Amino acid sequence: MADHLIRATAANGNVRAVSAISTQLCEEARQRHQLSYVATAALGRSMTAGLLLSTGMKRLDARINFQFMGGGPLGKVWIDAGADGTVRGYVQNPAVELPPNKLGKLDVGGAVGRDGTLHVIRDLGFGYPYSGTVELVSGEIGDDVTQYLATSEQTPSAVLLGVFVDSEGVQQAGGMMIQVLPGAPARLIDDMESKLSELTGFTPLMRSGMALTDILESVLGKWELQIAPETQMIRFSCPCSADRMLRALRLLGEAELRDMIEKDGGAEGTCHFCNEIYRVGKSDLQQVIEDLQAREG
Ligand code: ZN
Repeated sequence: MADHLIRATAANGNVRAVSAISTQLCEEARQRHQLSYVATAALGRSMTAGLLLSTGMKRLDARINFQFMGGGPLGKVWIDAGADGTVRGYVQNPAVELPPNKLGKLDVGGAVGRDGTLHVIRDLGFGYPYSGTVELVSGEIGDDVTQYLATSEQTPSAVLLGVFVDSEGVQQAGGMMIQVLPGAPARLIDDMESKLSELTGFTPLMRSGMALTDILESVLGKWELQIAPETQMIRFSCPCSADRMLRALRLLGEAELRDMIEKDGGAEGTCHFCNEIYRVGKSDLQQVIEDLQAREG
């Protein structure tokens, strides 16, 4: 089934939930960036979390960015997700692989690192982005996003994320975010915590073959769960283009561009977020120079 997410409320609107299947977009990221297993899990979890959080924003051009800087061998993990259901992202060192952790799972925490920060930028679409930074808890992504929501946004939340990848690629990926809204009865928070403590992660839920609606039902079913009828499609997408590359080249100025023509016979640029390579030939560079001269003249 195509990647998508669904929203729900429970307990008379005191609980908000979002759940997503993100298998295809995680696989696209894996192929584009030639990600190792552990890098696939780290970036896949981060992209899924970004999409889960971006659903709370009203405007379609609203976006959220996560920058994980944990000091681990993967280096920086950066994702950009939008309320329109698009996401893109990269890790600094995509080839890094680590042995499994003590639980026999991909060592995402070890690869991202635990000694650093998660920096979050929310742009609601009005042109005044706001940002928050929290210390990393485990580098496992879900814990760190939960910590960010609790401290920077004062919303007690549970974020479960799972990416199952084998030698054939990403087999299953997805996640779920459950938030208890301000003013909820203390009893509800206790009940919810004990229910969530029974869960061992999102991967076992997906691997059992349950659809998103079944997963939400199994977790929140006893609190008058109401699943919203709309399904939102989600996908890997990057707005970069050859045109943007040309505009960026213009900023380098005439001397630098002439140098590129002489030394390299053209220019080449790679988009960090999607790894697309753009090549600009001699004649196109010449055209950029002529445009610059025309503007000056
Ligand atoms: Zn791109």
